[in-house]
Amino acid sequence: MFNVAIDGPAGAGKSTIAKAAAKAFGFIYVDTGALYRTIALNAVREGIIDDTEKIIASLSSIEVNLGFDFDGTQCVYLNGSDVSAFIRTPEISMGASKVSAIPEVRAYLLDLQRNIAKENNVIMDGRDIATVVLPDAQCKIFLFASPERRAERRYKELVEKGEMVSFDDVLKDVNQRDYQDSHREIAPLKPTDDSIMADTSDLTLEESIDLIINTIKEKLQ
Ligand code: C5P
Repeated sequence: MFNVAIDGPAGAGKSTIAKAAAKAFGFIYVDTGALYRTIALNAVREGIIDDTEKIIASLSSIEVNLGFDFDGTQCVYLNGSDVSAFIRTPEISMGASKVSAIPEVRAYLLDLQRNIAKENNVIMDGRDIATVVLPDAQCKIFLFASPERRAERRYKELVEKGEMVSFDDVLKDVNQRDYQDSHREIAPLKPTDDSIMADTSDLTLEESIDLIINTIKEKLQ
């Protein structure tokens, strides 16, 4: 199987770029953030999101699975029901950030991620795919953009949605999340020695997709 690991900070465009690249190669696109979001959804529903011990205990009684439609679209299942529509709220984003720092949660999700990559050609995106989940991936990409560029993109999105935010606050948020992701004790966000660094700061979305497709093509040969 051919495995592509794409890691990088929030807001670098990973999921859009990885999805487009997966389509171009006919690979499955695996969004691992959805798994952390599903554990968070369960914890919020159970009212235990602030209790690490209870979150750890809950892992033995839940079942999390990923499914893929005929066109490669990913769905995530919690105890057999498709919860994909419920995991993108701000509350669940915050919760996911929290549960992702619990070592037992990361260990619980490890085999699930590895098994998908064992059985399929995948492009898997996350924070620790090259460092922990798929250290033997044939292609490892660290996709990033400057904090200012990522804040600019996020600011534009929020303004288009009609939200009242200041650019400085968005930038502060980006910097804070970067710090948290790269300084946490377990599976911090960082490239490996053999990661290909892809800086999308000065690229359009189309140019970023081309860059990633060409990078993967070179490794496929
Ligand atoms: O990528 P996304 O925003 O959906 O990720 C949700 C949360 O899960 C983030 O806070 C991120 O830190 C965490 N995460 C992680 N490891 C991954 C994927 C996501 O810790 N492989």
